[in-house]
Amino acid sequence: MSSAAPGGEPGPRRAAELGARLELLRGRVTAAAAAAGRDRAELTVVVVTKFFPAADVRALADLGVRDVGESRDQEAAAKAAELAPEHPALRWHFVGQLQTNKCRSVARYAAAVHSVDRPRLVAALAAGATAAGRELDCFVQVDLARELGEDADPARGGAAGDDVLRVADAVASAGPLRLAGLMAVAPRGQDPQRAFAALVRAAGRVRAGHPGAVHLSAGMSGDLEAAVAAGATHLRVGSAVLGTRPAAR
Ligand SMILES: *Cc1c(COP(=O)(O)O)cnc(C)c1O
Repeated sequence: MSSAAPGGEPGPRRAAELGARLELLRGRVTAAAAAAGRDRAELTVVVVTKFFPAADVRALADLGVRDVGESRDQEAAAKAAELAPEHPALRWHFVGQLQTNKCRSVARYAAAVHSVDRPRLVAALAAGATAAGRELDCFVQVDLARELGEDADPARGGAAGDDVLRVADAVASAGPLRLAGLMAVAPRGQDPQRAFAALVRAAGRVRAGHPGAVHLSAGMSGDLEAAVAAGATHLRVGSAVLGTRPAAR
């Protein structure tokens, strides 16, 4: 469906399509903020570009997008390297499940990692950030299914219960890492309002010990209004801007 050649210039039609969808999304976010009585300026939209070519990221950057999300290290590293010369201010957010052996690479290009869900990842990210001479914003990913007393979602990851605090403590005490707050994906089939309420409760527990951990990464194409109503500060939006994702490669 994309008319862009990987790595090349985005076709003018594709750029126009992305621009139109981005406008619609910005309108939705502004309306959601107004409906929730919140300041639009508190909301960061991370456009999740996973599986789409670097040319799309370039078109989005040309349209003023500053925050992009990716879920696979190899793909993200290649796009970040390709875009860095033209768009050095782009901020890369790693939002996918992460393995410890990828942390060193992720720490080289990512400004933020939204999927920190175990202490081993914290140690590996801290080592990677130190080696790269960079600081990294970290969100502790919460498994809302387990927070709501249901079975874990193994495809998604995330910490639950006391483990959320344990991971948050580890991030907060790791030199090059900053504890931004919590992240979650509303479980499939779950009322997003109920799911995000569980995230807000977990955030309250974390903030008791870490008052600076004020950010909440929640809300995707299908449920961003519920996330904004619940207090999200970072929305991770893919398909609403880029269209249906190509099949995973
Ligand atoms: C892919 C992805 C998104 C974007 O989802 P859309 O429904 O396409 O908006 C958000 N968060 C995470 C963690 C993702 O993997």
